[in-house]
Amino acid sequence: MVRVRFAPSPTGHLHIGAARTALYNWLYARHYEGRFILRVEDTDISRSSQEMSEGIIKGLSWLGLDWDEGPVFQSKRLKFYQKKAEELVKRGAAYYCYCTPENRKASGQWQTRCACSSLSKEKIRHYEQQGLKKAVRFKVPGGEVRYKDMIHGTITTRSDNIEDFVLLRRDGLPTYHLSVVSDDIDQKITHVIRGDDHISNTPKQILVYKALGADIPRFAHMSLILGKDRKKLSKRHGETSVLEFRDKGFLPLAVVNFLAQMSWSPGKERIYSMEEMKEKFYLDRRSSGNPIFDLDKLEW
Ligand SMILES: [Zn+2]
Repeated sequence: MVRVRFAPSPTGHLHIGAARTALYNWLYARHYEGRFILRVEDTDISRSSQEMSEGIIKGLSWLGLDWDEGPVFQSKRLKFYQKKAEELVKRGAAYYCYCTPENRKASGQWQTRCACSSLSKEKIRHYEQQGLKKAVRFKVPGGEVRYKDMIHGTITTRSDNIEDFVLLRRDGLPTYHLSVVSDDIDQKITHVIRGDDHISNTPKQILVYKALGADIPRFAHMSLILGKDRKKLSKRHGETSVLEFRDKGFLPLAVVNFLAQMSWSPGKERIYSMEEMKEKFYLDRRSSGNPIFDLDKLEW
């Protein structure tokens, strides 16, 4: 069964780019009679807020994008991620790093592998006795990572140049790579549909899936929306928050059609009902190319 998720970070309003990602996941789930899961990635406690979470949920509800499971809040699952990090250490796929950011920089040898990967048992015992704080780093294997993106086709990355990245920080909080893979495995996600600003994260995450012996989901990286000047979308291109559209009196179905038809063409340009969209939706290489944010198109 198809299982997809929308996983926003509540560090701002539900903006148009995130809403489009949510919509594509929702349409994909509904088209294949799968499940759409809502996950709130709020482990960055200093930047996340309850108010923003509520705003995002309100925005989704207004658009008519109902979810089947969740919302699951990552901030309530820290123990789960810590366990996963331990599991990776036990499997020999990760190691404790006792470095501080300062001494790592000061050592002057910024290498992809930290010296902590080959500490003797005595040294580790010594550090533990001193009560040093430690992070967990992933031990990136050599070779290459290859996967077939549903939109971009085959993507190959050499892993030799990837630094042994941190999974669990010294303060016990998971990094994005750890929390997202742990949750995607736990929630049995089959398709990861997200913005192509994540393309550089994906090889690292595939390595973590492999190290945990889990099935790797299919990935679809959607091209980001650009302004008419072909620059990254921002405030100066007009309203970018979903609730602003609501407050201006737009109908949710018009906004949904505007978002859907940015990089998917169901046929003639017109307003389609949710039912029609569910039926006709596809996600493949035809969805590549950066859509342009053109507010005139919202005036159906
Ligand atoms: Zn280290």
